[in-house]
Amino acid sequence: MKCRICNHSDLKEFLSLGKSPLANSFLSKENLEKEEPEYPLELTFCTDCKLVQLTYVVSPELMFRNYLYVSSTSDTFKIHFTNMAEKISKDFNLNEKSLAVDIGSNDGLLLNGFKKCGLKTIGVEPATNLAKLAEQNGVETINDFFNGSTVKNIIENKGHADVVTANNVFAHVDNILEFTKNVGSLLKRDGIFVVEVQYLVDMINKMTFDNIYHEHLSYFTLTSLSTFFKRHDMEVFDAQRVDSHGGSLRVFIKKSEGKFDVNPAVNQILMHEKKIGVEDFKLYQKFADKVYGVKQKLTDKIGAIKIEGKKIAGYGAPAKSTTLLNFCRIGKDHLDYIIDENKLKQGLFSPGTHIQIVGPKILDIKKPDYILILAWNFAEEILKKTKKYADSNVKFIIPLPEPLII
Ligand SMILES: [Zn+2]
Repeated sequence: MKCRICNHSDLKEFLSLGKSPLANSFLSKENLEKEEPEYPLELTFCTDCKLVQLTYVVSPELMFRNYLYVSSTSDTFKIHFTNMAEKISKDFNLNEKSLAVDIGSNDGLLLNGFKKCGLKTIGVEPATNLAKLAEQNGVETINDFFNGSTVKNIIENKGHADVVTANNVFAHVDNILEFTKNVGSLLKRDGIFVVEVQYLVDMINKMTFDNIYHEHLSYFTLTSLSTFFKRHDMEVFDAQRVDSHGGSLRVFIKKSEGKFDVNPAVNQILMHEKKIGVEDFKLYQKFADKVYGVKQKLTDKIGAIKIEGKKIAGYGAPAKSTTLLNFCRIGKDHLDYIIDENKLKQGLFSPGTHIQIVGPKILDIKKPDYILILAWNFAEEILKKTKKYADSNVKFIIPLPEPLII
């Protein structure tokens, strides 16, 4: 295979999580007996542009036309995106004449924030269910993938954009070059492109390897991002580390001729990355060894609990739980059920492992001895909500960075 970004063929593989079903392919009861497609989950490193990427690309039509993840379900994200819209509007003096375009706009959460700041907005969202939801929330949305024709449509009807955002979308894109060219055509000369991507350095430090799934084709560092944009007439001019998804990078990109100065933060992060060795294959080999170690410890702990005859429930069925459960082979024999507050997921079964997803009320009916927190990035929120069970001796297992029982 060749590198997704630079076409280089010297790729070095370092981690295999085996075969896994699509992370969001939760099953209805009728589909449990049917054969489930599984695809390899393997990471490889490009020695030229330093991009870490999946070896196998699943068709986006299979992954993004019906999407169960709704941004507004989480209080944490509501605050995160509302603040983001306010900050960008203020920092770049955007006003009622400005146009904000959000790619992968989900249920319109971020654009609603921009609307509140007075901006004109339009979303692009391939998932039909989410585009409908956004329209119901009053956010105009094009139900399609972001491509040449959506860009043409936006320019004709709304003009060029002052700000284009893509949160947790950039890593999903196979043809990043074409995507970026389209962003370039959509932006005004001094327009800005803001992407939020999960940060590979945080993934390595915090061992959040469950963020590896088929939707995430690329695993970025600022080094790989800056190299890419520089090669394609754009430039990273600011970067910040933010908390979402266990650690992300918010990166501000301008056209090469755009007016913004490069913030010193960019160089600081690049220097830090050099120091910890993101350009060196050894860093990734070490990470892989640790991942295999965590799997061993977690399965040992869960095995020991089951030998005692105790009951375990899962909490949270985010996409990443599919990776963790399948990679660690934690299934129906280990977890009685998984709680998720997203009503769209309740009644469905986890991909590959077939554990039923239920609403939180079940905790009063079938109280477990342990709760495995699968949505560990919301651990604090979950611990708060389930305090009364902790008070009645239910223990919690936090799987990452090292399995921990509290
Ligand atoms: Zn490359």
